[in-house]
Amino acid sequence: MERCIFCEINDGKIPSENKIYETENFFSILDINQDVKGHALVISKKHFSNILELPVSLGRELLDCIKGTSLKIMKDYQATGFNTINNNFDSAGQLIKHFHLHIFPRKEDDGLKIIT
Ligand code: AMP
Ligand code: ZN
Repeated sequence: MERCIFCEINDGKIPSENKIYETENFFSILDINQDVKGHALVISKKHFSNILELPVSLGRELLDCIKGTSLKIMKDYQATGFNTINNNFDSAGQLIKHFHLHIFPRKEDDGLKIIT
């Protein structure tokens, strides 16, 4: 079984920001990089290398965690919108090989450039 920094965070071995939202198979925390205030990560509790390894049966629960996290960070950071981004494999900029999805809170005219 592969292990990584997100496995350690899930096991509580590495201190992380308080969990924003949690379901049976997912949790969310603030990204360590807060260049964008409120940048959050939805992370699977089990080590799946990327979205292709994630069982389809967890899709519903993943959506629950994305929604719960987005609503919470929009409220906490007075955002009026948000972007979700999921990087898969090196060529797409995936640094940590454990499934996670980024959520960026957005405000009108915040100047943030997100590739879409
Ligand atoms: P990615 O390029 O999609 O693999 O992004 C990995 C993300 O994990 C980056 O945005 C990092 O800032 C973030 N990150 C790395 N280590 C930690 C950590 N210990 N706690 C929270 N976020 C982290
Ligand atoms: Zn892992």
